[in-house]
Amino acid sequence: MIEVRNLVKKYGTHLAVDHLDFKIESGRIYGFLGPNGAGKSTTMNIMTGYLGATEGEVLIDGHDILKEPEEAKRHIGYLPEQPPLYVDMTVREYLGFAAELKGIPKAKREEEITEIEKMVRIKDVEHRLIKNLSKGYRQRVGLAQAVLGFPEIIILDEPSVGLDPKQIIEIRELIRKLAKNHTVILSSHILAEVREVCDHILIISKGRLVASDTPENLEKMLGEHNSVEIETGASPSEVRLILKNVPGIEMIETQEKDDGVTWARITEKKGEDIREQIFTAFASAKTPLLTLKAAGMTLEDVFMELTQSDTVPDAFITKAKWEEVGTDAGDL
Ligand code: ADP
Ligand code: MG
Repeated sequence: MIEVRNLVKKYGTHLAVDHLDFKIESGRIYGFLGPNGAGKSTTMNIMTGYLGATEGEVLIDGHDILKEPEEAKRHIGYLPEQPPLYVDMTVREYLGFAAELKGIPKAKREEEITEIEKMVRIKDVEHRLIKNLSKGYRQRVGLAQAVLGFPEIIILDEPSVGLDPKQIIEIRELIRKLAKNHTVILSSHILAEVREVCDHILIISKGRLVASDTPENLEKMLGEHNSVEIETGASPSEVRLILKNVPGIEMIETQEKDDGVTWARITEKKGEDIREQIFTAFASAKTPLLTLKAAGMTLEDVFMELTQSDTVPDAFITKAKWEEVGTDAGDL
């Protein structure tokens, strides 16, 4: 478990990390989400012992990262924003070097490197010089380095920046695979990315933690999805018939568009989320839905609101945060 307490980092007079407090529990995937300059990399650099804090502390399984860096670092694998790759080495040489630095016993090194090379799918390039690899492959080499030694916690700073869509999907799959046996913390300035892979999102804005919850709760908290919009090839009367037996519907509005597509807005009874039932009702009627979306506030809206406004509305600071951290309301 990681505990970050009252963490502050100043660069000169610039406050890059502003009294951060949070806990990371084992076995989950956490996402640090925030726009560029929010303080994600700075926080990760402190959590991994690469940068000192101005104030506050980071405990890794009870070990203070600043006072016992060796012990704390043994628990963490880190892929920084700019992976420290030695580009004149081959992949295998580099991983051998990294394994040595991590103190992996010589007898285990070769076997472990081979295992990790297979896992992140770089075995086929192990004898190539790193400088001749594509960005996607380099990122995987960086990831292999972070995974070496199989530390309990793996921290990845913007792991998919600069990758093409296919490589992004591959990296995500890898992260999910890693999460089966490790706690993973990744950062991103892209909401879709953290929503896709993370169990828990920490939204950081201007060095402050402005929300901390599951993606579902963040969405729910703000937009009780009071309506769902759909598009389908069925006629308005067919739409009403299909939805007749779905409970939780307050009202249905329909509109027939020129191209034979029907648009409908389905208003839900308070507190219900009937997207699945709507989907299932159309599937059972063998009528495809062309689109289905919650028309309440989306996570996208939450993120924009939280990270762009100068003052964070109280309503946005999640209950989970108060409970987890027990921060005095006056501090925010
Ligand atoms: P993020 O990773 O969320 O994009 P960073 O942690 O890199 O954010 O940066 C947070 C803030 O601190 C930014 O305003 C950035 O300009 C500033 N900053 C980062 N590193 C340094 C540094 N070495 N010296 C001075 N300012 C820095
Ligand atoms: Mg960064």
